[in-house]
Amino acid sequence: MINVAIDGPASSGKSTVAKAAAKALGFIHVDTGALYRTVALGAQRSGAGEDKEKVIEMLKDIKVDIRYIDGAQAVFLNDENVTSLIRTPEISMLASTVSAIPEVREFLLDLQREIARNNNVIMDGRDIATIILPNADVKIFLFASPEARADRRYKELLEKGESVMYEDVLADIKQRDYQDSHREIAPLKPSEESVMLDTTELNLEESIQAAINIIKEKIA
Ligand code: C5P
Repeated sequence: MINVAIDGPASSGKSTVAKAAAKALGFIHVDTGALYRTVALGAQRSGAGEDKEKVIEMLKDIKVDIRYIDGAQAVFLNDENVTSLIRTPEISMLASTVSAIPEVREFLLDLQREIARNNNVIMDGRDIATIILPNADVKIFLFASPEARADRRYKELLEKGESVMYEDVLADIKQRDYQDSHREIAPLKPSEESVMLDTTELNLEESIQAAINIIKEKIA
């Protein structure tokens, strides 16, 4: 099986790029952030919130899995399709918080490795190249400046009809960057072998093409 790891910070566009590249290459796309978001939704619903001990306790009572519906990834919490419920700013921040709990990362480890064992995958996240798939055939670290990412995210939210302030979006991104890269466990960082892909000056099409080129070159 061919395994491609794409890691990078919040709102870098890595999921969109990974999804499009997977489609072009006939691979399965695995957005691992959606798994942490699903755990966060479970924590929110159960009342555990950010309480570490309660979140760990909650893990015993939840089942998280990924299914593919018409080729698109859907995430399930206790057999309920929660794909459309995990994209709120509250869940983004809670996902970042619960993902720093070692037990949460352990809880999601086998699920991620199992999918990669059985499929050609492009898996995106924060620690795919470093921890989840250290033997991945291709490792890409996709990033852009915080301002470029905030700008994209801001426009996306406006299009969805949400009323947000650019400054708040930028502050959220910076806070998540800080949390994700300073945590003790599985911090966001490129692996030694990662190809660095800076998309600050690239549009979406160019970013997708750049990723596909890197992948094709490595697996040729
Ligand atoms: O990628 P996305 O923004 O959906 O991820 C939500 C949160 O989940 C991130 O802020 C990060 O803290 C966490 N995450 C992680 N490891 C991954 C993917 C996401 O810790 N592989």
